[in-house]
Amino acid sequence: MIDAHIHLFQSNSGKYSMELIDSFVSQAQKKGLSEIYLLEHTHQFHEFKQMYKPIENYNEYQRNWLSGKMTASIESYAAFIEQIRGCCFPILVKFGLEACYIPETGTLLESIIKQYRWDFVVGSVHFIDNWGFDHKAEFWRGINVDGAYHRYYEIMLEMIHTGMFSGAAHPDSIKCFGHYPTFSLDDTYINLAAALNKAGMYAEHSGGLALNYGHGEKGMNTCMLKVFKEYGVKILTASDAHRPEHTGENIVDLSEMLQDGGKRFD
Ligand SMILES: [Zn+2]
Ligand SMILES: [Zn+2]
Repeated sequence: MIDAHIHLFQSNSGKYSMELIDSFVSQAQKKGLSEIYLLEHTHQFHEFKQMYKPIENYNEYQRNWLSGKMTASIESYAAFIEQIRGCCFPILVKFGLEACYIPETGTLLESIIKQYRWDFVVGSVHFIDNWGFDHKAEFWRGINVDGAYHRYYEIMLEMIHTGMFSGAAHPDSIKCFGHYPTFSLDDTYINLAAALNKAGMYAEHSGGLALNYGHGEKGMNTCMLKVFKEYGVKILTASDAHRPEHTGENIVDLSEMLQDGGKRFD
């Protein structure tokens, strides 16, 4: 089993060490995992400051949010990865980034991530036209839900088409606060599946919303999962853990959902 999305930073305040990695690895072994993807978020690193300008400029709340998060340099993370590259772990350990895709500054993102060696870079849509839709439930008041879904998937398709990413993180995270569109997304899922395959990208089957938002649904919704399986999209199970002890959370359940009549990659 694989856990393809585990955050390092919030557990260690930016201090990298072999002991820290071992804490994730030993928890992964307890959970029966054979492979883990450890990552950091682009918004943690001041090298990406310019890329987040549209997000900062959106409102005061987002400016404060970003300044609280952007406290480290990517240099120490990249240097640590280089230092331990080639170390033997009892399971396969990959190091990468979760990168926000912000259409206006996508080329800036690309220019920074290309400067370092990553095992993977997973792309995320966390902002719809610079609005951070997954921050607080109250921010959805007065929002046109159909319009938000429409733009969310437009941005995701654009993200996939850039060819910059290894995978798409939590591809239906717009459901985070329980808002759903009035229209069918079947055609959108087909377009996403075709684009993911063309770009050679995987999609995460992520338990992150169940773990971090208390959402009732584990993994991507059943319609999306059905379409992605039918189209043979590569799907990786992912916890979106933010602490070592959450490594592998929900992965057994998510893996079982993939086994039901579809392709499985592990
Ligand atoms: Zn994310
Ligand atoms: Zn994440």
